[in-house]
Amino acid sequence: MLFGCSGPNDWWLQGKVETMNVQYRSSRGGQEGVSASGAIIKGLAQDGGLFVPDHFPKLEISLEECANLNYKELAYEVMKLFLTDFTEEELRGCIERAYDDKFDTEEIAPLAEVDKAYYLELFHGATIAFKDMALSILPHLMTTAAKKNNVEQEIVILTATSGDTGKAALAGFAGVEGTRIVVFYPKNGVSAIQEKQMVTQKGENVKVIGITGNFDDAQTGVKNIFGDKEMAEELAKAGFVFSSANSINIGRLVPQVVYYVYAYAKLVKEGRIKAGDPINVTVPTGNFGNILAGYYAKQIGVPIAKLICASNENKVLFDFFETGCYDRNRDFILTTSPSMDILISSNLERLIYLIAGSDADKNRELMQSLSASGKYTITEDMKSRLADFEGGFASEADVAETIRRIYEKTGYVMDTHTAVAATVYENYRKASADETPTVIVSTASPFKFTRSVMEAIVGSIDDKSDFELIDKLSEIANVKVPNAIEEIRTADVLHDTVCDKEDMKAQVKKFLGL
Ligand SMILES: *Cc1c(COP(=O)(O)O)cnc(C)c1O
Repeated sequence: MLFGCSGPNDWWLQGKVETMNVQYRSSRGGQEGVSASGAIIKGLAQDGGLFVPDHFPKLEISLEECANLNYKELAYEVMKLFLTDFTEEELRGCIERAYDDKFDTEEIAPLAEVDKAYYLELFHGATIAFKDMALSILPHLMTTAAKKNNVEQEIVILTATSGDTGKAALAGFAGVEGTRIVVFYPKNGVSAIQEKQMVTQKGENVKVIGITGNFDDAQTGVKNIFGDKEMAEELAKAGFVFSSANSINIGRLVPQVVYYVYAYAKLVKEGRIKAGDPINVTVPTGNFGNILAGYYAKQIGVPIAKLICASNENKVLFDFFETGCYDRNRDFILTTSPSMDILISSNLERLIYLIAGSDADKNRELMQSLSASGKYTITEDMKSRLADFEGGFASEADVAETIRRIYEKTGYVMDTHTAVAATVYENYRKASADETPTVIVSTASPFKFTRSVMEAIVGSIDDKSDFELIDKLSEIANVKVPNAIEEIRTADVLHDTVCDKEDMKAQVKKFLGL
């Protein structure tokens, strides 16, 4: 694909490193030639598809060189490959503003060696879940993109959350000029701490709404509003334009590629591996955004051998990797890892597109089948391209057992989502005898899921309040209670709207004064 390429005779590029522009197209074929900044503003393609890069760039520096960079420097090296229409100044500015002292460690993403695996801790940001890694920077990318594209309207972010995206997006967008944000969460489908974090969010431009439904209902509702042409027109007249902070936005995905490169570089720097050696990664998965970013990291040159996709009891992805059939027709189970309670993993579409040989027609056909019948089956050819992936799942009992076992053995306390991954990794290692150094992506602080974590470690906790348990956890783990938790101890509830999934659109209009 030569479209957008700089030719060798482009004299104004002489002396600069020549990189082919990455442009974005819809995974369903209805749109192409969209710039990175355009794709970030739009969120979803016009035809309901996801924006995918038209080719994969390659890292321009060696893995050894990566090992000498700090998080921000590396973030620039990685993100510039995908966001080719951002200037160096723009991109570095976004990175500076995102990865600052909102994080409680300068490393941004520390790597902890525990029980023969490396835990990549992605929960040191403002809301103590990995969503901060991308949502700290997305508002900056989006407002920069709006400026570049002369977007005059106010950007309205609509977000469905299974618990962590909501707070991270609220924290990211609160008070950001030229934006408003509405977050929908499943009223009975998030942890008490997650809910408290969201409903105490301050800011004139934010709105938090619980819906009587599950995460898939929230996500489908948001997608329907995005697809509603009448609503878009009404909005445009009033000076608004919708966008998304969900991982369907490439502005979420690209910053997530960074920490896979960083983890690899760190292992090289610490002498755990030599540059070029393979590693495996195990990722606790819901919407398939995080693990897909790992796959993108592999495409740009990080030697990742296996991507182990860990599910909780909502094991739709495990079944998919086993059988080649994706089937969401099953009961939705509420688990102790609520951020992974998902039956429609949106980002899987980007992988389906790739394994179909970048065939948008084939992908569209499968996605139509998914929305019509709740399932689809890939071809044998496509299945053979999934060899990089390994699926596994953990039961609720397994998760509690893993948290307790690792704590007793090492003193390290992990959250329920990370424990899903740790369980799946342990099972994989036993079954395969594969001893490749493995990074387990640690997606949340245990303080975010204190009840489940403490129940796993000490047994019965029924008569204890959340904050009593938090203090106890701090004591046994020997870790200070994070600021994100201290903040909500006494904070006032500012949002108490609950609506049916049918009323989501009306609620958005009300908030915008339409
Ligand atoms: C969102 C989330 C996940 C799932 O990540 P996906 O990108 O949706 O697969 C896992 N763990 C935690 C704590 C999360 O917040």
